[in-house]
Amino acid sequence: MDLEMKPEEAAFRDEVRSFLADNLTEDLKAHARLTSGILVDHPLRKEWLQILNARGWAAPSWPAEFGGTGWTVMQKFIFASECARAGSPGVASMGLSMVGPTLMGHGTDEQRAHYLPRILSGEDWWCQGYSEPGSGSDLASLQTKAVSDGDDYIINGTKIWTTGAHVANNMFCLVRTSSEGKRQQGISFILFPMDLPGISVEPIITISGDHEVNQVFFDDVRVPKANRVGAENNGWTVAKYLLEFERGGSAHGANLRNALNRLKNIASQEIAGGDGTLLDDEAFRRKVDAAEVEVTAVEFTEHRIMSALSSGQNPGAASSMIKLRGSTMTQTITELGVEAIAHYAAPHVMEARTWGSNVAPVGPAHTLMVVPKYMNGRANTIFGGSNEVQRNIMAKAVLGL
Ligand SMILES: Cc1cc2nc3c(=O)[nH]c(=O)nc-3n(C[C@H](O)[C@H](O)[C@H](O)COP(=O)(O)OP(=O)(O)OC[C@H]3O[C@@H](n4cnc5c(N)ncnc54)[C@H](O)[C@@H]3O)c2cc1C
Repeated sequence: MDLEMKPEEAAFRDEVRSFLADNLTEDLKAHARLTSGILVDHPLRKEWLQILNARGWAAPSWPAEFGGTGWTVMQKFIFASECARAGSPGVASMGLSMVGPTLMGHGTDEQRAHYLPRILSGEDWWCQGYSEPGSGSDLASLQTKAVSDGDDYIINGTKIWTTGAHVANNMFCLVRTSSEGKRQQGISFILFPMDLPGISVEPIITISGDHEVNQVFFDDVRVPKANRVGAENNGWTVAKYLLEFERGGSAHGANLRNALNRLKNIASQEIAGGDGTLLDDEAFRRKVDAAEVEVTAVEFTEHRIMSALSSGQNPGAASSMIKLRGSTMTQTITELGVEAIAHYAAPHVMEARTWGSNVAPVGPAHTLMVVPKYMNGRANTIFGGSNEVQRNIMAKAVLGL
């Protein structure tokens, strides 16, 4: 998105550029490049969060009173764009993007005072316990039970597809505290550490070869009732509020712009034994141009969401729109990447991928992460609520159907 900058905004952009030049190490950039999904190697994303936090820039979207930057919408846009342009790793902190805003909206003063600073410092890292083997889109059918026992709940059940449960030290979780009445009315929202007795985590390795998601089991896990956010049986309201932040945060325009630039770089390589590059091919160029139009539309929508967040509102149905368009565009761009590298997309080439900078690619370096990113991107239209579910939300909330 090409916005004309005021002199103070250009000065801010230069400040961000110089901060990135000083702090973004080659190792951090290499890990960002070699990540197919959202989770950069955990110690590194923690390191990057701490570097940002030392500068007071860990939480661009939080209000200043809670330790956020207090930036204008334009400053946030500049910061996100410059980070993407410089190739910085995504922090992908559910604490920053989901738990923090939810505690600001629904937590107690004690909960805010305890958790928010620990999210900013990286001391607490969160995972989301919503989905269960039989409850995804139909989340209200969830069965994980929390039974009252004095000042505690005893939790039994299982959560699945839990992103980052193997590195998080805390979970925000939906549990059933009542089977009476409407299903939505018997759910509570609760926070707890992952090292409590009775919690176990099993890895799920996805088609891209990544370990990002897990299944988590609860066997008589004792959690104090004081860890509940909101009233007992009112967790559905809290959960829905949080989902708007999750969806709004799933498809950053800056990341899409980065992916598009990567695609252009791939397509601008000389075709072996041929004349010119794929970008010179009119049919391929048209597809890249169409993707660019869509990416620009996502950037504009994201700008609107940032405006809502800055003025203390939650993003509303716009978050469903950006989730839908952003996830679809991620898939379109990664599909074009596979088309561009042709036979280097053969499955055996994927085996060359390793973490870190000591990579020995089978094909040319620019082909290395194309297939893992394409594979990982298949999940984008499912997590955070599938595209069909986002369309249903917009049909109701925007079109009034
Ligand atoms: C990579 C990844 C990471 C994830 N991370 C997390 C996490 O950290 N925490 C967490 O709690 N969950 C997580 N999830 C789970 C995710 O939220 C669910 O997978 C998602 O909500 C879909 O639920 P489901 O898998 O049960 O599919 P289902 O709900 O069974 O859906 C199956 C198909 O039916 C369609 N469908 C369902 N209902 C409707 C409807 N009413 N109208 C039209 N179509 C419909 C869906 O769109 C889908 O195509 C993750 C998922 C993935 C893939």
